[in-house]
Order: sequence, then structure tokens, then C-alpha cells
Amino acid sequence: MSDVIFELRDLRKTYNLGQVNQVDVLAKANLKLKAGEVVALVAPSGAGKSTLLHIAGLLDTPDDGDVLLNGEILNLKNDERRTTVRRHDIGFIYQFHHLLPEFTAAENVILPQMADGVSRSKAYGRAAMLLSKVGLAERANHRPTELSGGEQQRVAFCRALANSPSLLLADEPTGNLDQATSHQVFDNLLSIVRETGLSALIATHNPVIAERMDRVISLNEGTISQD
Ligand code: ADP
Repeated sequence: MSDVIFELRDLRKTYNLGQVNQVDVLAKANLKLKAGEVVALVAPSGAGKSTLLHIAGLLDTPDDGDVLLNGEILNLKNDERRTTVRRHDIGFIYQFHHLLPEFTAAENVILPQMADGVSRSKAYGRAAMLLSKVGLAERANHRPTELSGGEQQRVAFCRALANSPSLLLADEPTGNLDQATSHQVFDNLLSIVRETGLSALIATHNPVIAERMDRVISLNEGTISQD
């Protein structure tokens, strides 16, 4: 299918705990994401969501199987190519914002762009545009400690989108926020993802949030089940 932009093919991952204990976290896990598709990953704690997202984001390698982005098999590529793809094509959002405390909101969104060779003025322009889309134009010069939890996470979205990735991966992006804030922040995330036509895989425990995505998948005994 030509409109599939991201694919996980027959992924396997086993952790060895001591000499006899093995955990088969992924056992032939398969997933295809189409361009612009937003998918919720809902599964109990320990089911393997973080393992799956780390492999999908090229932060870890599978024991077997392939990770394809835009038709390129990436898991077997060298570190340099994987780092380039991670920097250009994949945006990450974690449960905790992980913003750099000594930098302002704008600078946190500028830095990944400058690491990618973008000029300071162009990077600043894009940071200002992204921050205004999430309602933080007035907070651009604030440091993370001067922002609320929801605002910090919005800045983290902007940072994830700074280099115009084609895939967004998020691990419980609103899991650290109270219910009302998490819905507001998720609204922001969803509208910016829709507007940019990104594909996204978003792990969440929140069934109301999951229902708002295009489809919901789960992880069960190492395989991905589709709704
Ligand atoms: P989730 O994100 O769904 O909570 P994880 O992917 O973090 O699940 O973990 C899945 C399973 O793999 C758990 O049983 C966990 O204990 C185990 N696991 C995760 N990482 C490691 C590791 N580095 N070494 C050994 N076991 C691990």
C-alpha cells in the first residue's frame, strides 16, 4: 500500500532476566500507519508499550523484524543514519516534558533545529509559530519552571515538531497532568497533528482520549491487536 508511511513488521523482542527467566515482550508485532493517521496504543502497564515505542523510534533494536519509515528499512542501518532519521523524521513526546531548565520555551524549540543546521533566525521563526499555535506566544521567553505542567508539555510538543517530522511517537503525553488539563493539552496536540498531516502513535491510559484518535490498537502477549 503506497500510502503507508510507517511500518513495524514481525517485531520480536525478548528480555533475559537471569539465566532461566525470559520475557517475550514483542512476538511478531505488526503495525502499519498511513500518512496522517493518528493511532492510540492502549495496553496495561508492563504490556510492552515503551519497548514498542523505543524500537519504533530507533532508540532500541528488535531481536528480529523490521522498522520501516517512508519505505526505508531502518533497524539495520548504521548509527549515523539512524540518528539522522531520528533527528529529521521522528518527533518524540514523553510523559515528563524533559525540557532543558536553563533555556526558555523558545530556546527549547530552537535548539533541535540548530542541531539540524537551521539558521538561528529561521529556527526562531518556526519556534514562534509553533508556540503561538499552542497558545504560548506570550510565554516564549519563560523558563520551564515559570510554566504550568500543561504549558510545559505544550512546549514539549513544539520541540517534538520543531524539525517537521513525518512521524510522531508519544508515550503517555498527558499522563502527568490532571484530567481537565490533559484534555486541553490533548486538544492542542491533536489539532496541531491534524494541521501538519503527521502520522502519530500515541500510548495512553485514558480511554476518552484514545477514542478521539482514528483507531485504537492494543498489545496482547507481544502481538498488536487492532480494534
Ligand atoms: P509498558 O510500557 O507497557 O509498561 P514496558 O515496555 O516498559 O511496558 O515493559 C514490558 C516488559 O518488559 C515488562 O515486563 C518489563 O519488566 C520488561 N522490561 C522492559 N525493559 C526491560 C529491560 N531493559 N530488561 C529486562 N526487562 C525489561
